[in-house]
Amino acid sequence: MRDATEKLAEMVANGGVAVLTGAGISTESGIPDYRGPDGAEVRRAPMTYQTFTRDAAARRRYWARSHVGWRAIARAAPNARPPAGGPGGGGGPPPPPITQNVDGLHQAAGASGVIELHGNLDRVVCLDCGDVTPRDELDRRLRMANPVWNAQVLAVNPDGDVDLPDDAVDRFRVVDCRSCGHGTLKPDVVFFGETVPLPRVEASFAAVHDARLLLVLGSSLTVMSGRRFVLRAAKLGIPVAIVNRGSTRGDDYATLTVDAPLGAVLPEIVRMMR
Ligand SMILES: [Zn+2]
Repeated sequence: MRDATEKLAEMVANGGVAVLTGAGISTESGIPDYRGPDGAEVRRAPMTYQTFTRDAAARRRYWARSHVGWRAIARAAPNARPPAGGPGGGGGPPPPPITQNVDGLHQAAGASGVIELHGNLDRVVCLDCGDVTPRDELDRRLRMANPVWNAQVLAVNPDGDVDLPDDAVDRFRVVDCRSCGHGTLKPDVVFFGETVPLPRVEASFAAVHDARLLLVLGSSLTVMSGRRFVLRAAKLGIPVAIVNRGSTRGDDYATLTVDAPLGAVLPEIVRMMR
């Protein structure tokens, strides 16, 4: 690993690094893995967009569990600041970091201009009128709508997600959009069965085009929504370096792979990129 880290140091030293981060960077900070497109290992059937929008009972279950689980995200320490990309080509600004995560950890750690490929759990969107509101505000509304509700957490799964008893879920009251008065609220994240909004995809491709190196951190690249950027970089002849625990579906296209926990490698990379 020592050799690989040093090789990586040489690669990032040139600057112009487009960083693509995945769940690995968050789980090491104590955030439950997101059951969206990049959920590394889905232990139960993931919530799909179709189920969420068509099934009121499934929605209630989602929000009840989220009401409990949100606290875990709000408490997580932002100790996984992604490295800035270093100077871009011609001394311009570095390409913006691209993240597949939805926990806002990078932003909380001070990174700016992050492309949130799959959205962010700290926002809520109305499926009817499109109004976007902070998750904190919904949290307050849900607490007011459920003044005596509490749920015994049956199990905390390995990824930090919680199981709740059915009767607690049944007693949970969901609220609707306050702006239009009736719309269904959904976390502003991309669910399975949903496509990533085109402007985010285009911004991400542009970041890759501008890069001298694509550095993947903590993503197994299992789904195309992230893997396509590796494929594009390879096609353009831009080197790809991947730091991840375990193999990834982008390894065949990588110039360098480092199989290690990010916690062990990231501080080194950040230090080298300064
Ligand atoms: Zn609305």
